[in-house]
Amino acid sequence: MRRVAIIGGGAIGSAIAYFLGADPTGEAFDITVVERDFSYRQASSALSASSIRQQFSTAINIEMSLYGIDFFRTLGETLRVGDDDVPDIGLVEPGYLYLASAAGVHVLRENHAVQKAHAVDVALLTPDELKARFPWLSTEGIALASLGLSGEGWYDGYSLLQAFRKKAASQGARYVQAHATGLRRQGRTVTGVQLDSGETIDADIVVNAAGAWAAKVAEWVGIDLPVRGRRRSVFSFSCPETLPGCPLVIDTSGIWLRPEGRQFICGFAPPADRDPDDAPLDVEHEAFDNFIWPALAERIPAFEAVRMTGAWAGYYEMNLFDHNAILGLHPDCDNLYFANGFSGHGLQQCPAAGRGIAELIRFGGYRSLDLSPLSFARILENRPLVEKNII
Ligand SMILES: Cc1cc2nc3c(=O)[nH]c(=O)nc-3n(C[C@H](O)[C@H](O)[C@H](O)COP(=O)(O)OP(=O)(O)OC[C@H]3O[C@@H](n4cnc5c(N)ncnc54)[C@H](O)[C@@H]3O)c2cc1C
Repeated sequence: MRRVAIIGGGAIGSAIAYFLGADPTGEAFDITVVERDFSYRQASSALSASSIRQQFSTAINIEMSLYGIDFFRTLGETLRVGDDDVPDIGLVEPGYLYLASAAGVHVLRENHAVQKAHAVDVALLTPDELKARFPWLSTEGIALASLGLSGEGWYDGYSLLQAFRKKAASQGARYVQAHATGLRRQGRTVTGVQLDSGETIDADIVVNAAGAWAAKVAEWVGIDLPVRGRRRSVFSFSCPETLPGCPLVIDTSGIWLRPEGRQFICGFAPPADRDPDDAPLDVEHEAFDNFIWPALAERIPAFEAVRMTGAWAGYYEMNLFDHNAILGLHPDCDNLYFANGFSGHGLQQCPAAGRGIAELIRFGGYRSLDLSPLSFARILENRPLVEKNII
């Protein structure tokens, strides 16, 4: 039986563990997931905004999320363990609403054409149509908008991670709480994962699913993985008014917001010159008062009266090369698989990435969705796959 060691037991590592163990008639694997913190305090999967959309600019991201939403809709039965309660990730589908100023109309239309070619359920709205649909929204400065009519929304990321983990464990995957500190290597092959306890887990196959910390794992075998932790703060707030039908709104300022139960959450991407690698996970509190709240209140006048109720910060595991996932083998090493660099859209892609990496390991190639556009080769050959819709 081939032994697989997965470094990182977040949503990506756990989805890979699940898909590897999900085929009872195929080859069986001896799977160990090495996760240093079972409470997932810093894991992106637990600190995520946990949303899903098909409004991307590249075919591969659209296809991955189309599979993601199908998987999420039926997850309860798929990931149920025996007679236990059906896992519930609280999926809702109110859509994403992208707002564009006159300068952004061209890109919005271009993206719309790509999305329509992939049968995404999305519509372009004029400012008048927008006002009719969402009377609580100011259309000042908006020239066009794009609304997902189905298949887009949000869910609970931590429950998703736990559902994958519990199902993977029920299929035989072993979760070990330990810090991986190195890889044992023989020529082009990795033979084991070294732990801080001094122990080594022997392995025929190793998977790097270490999220924002994945570059360290790659470094152990001399591979330069262009993935860094980029801190993203999320703020929650309450508002005395309700906003009927409120989708996840992406404002022209780049700020996003969405309902979260009876409250709202919002966030932003800091400008490039204030977005260092691997910054400590301290919330950028001043950002809320300085520019998030004023911009929100301009777009949605009811937000004049909001009250901040909480905040947290987590890492985007950012692929600095082209803001897309890096999946599969590196040409220098025959059995170290990468599933990294999701750059803010990894949670919705964990079903597609998990299934894809499991196929690569099992069959030596993709069988369902061809994820080769996300291979390491594009980086080595300097062929960026640019995703314009990074939030
Ligand atoms: C604020 C925020 C908002 C987001 N919003 C969205 C969104 O709306 N939609 C979406 O799809 N995605 C979103 N993302 C991105 C998404 O959350 C991530 O892409 C996804 O969770 C990555 O999963 P992962 O398993 O690779 O990483 P993680 O969940 O971080 O898991 C990696 C695990 O590896 C472990 N680990 C690392 N190094 C070692 C080691 N040496 N030894 C042992 N264990 C190790 C860590 O402890 C960690 O648990 C968001 C992220 C953030 C931070």
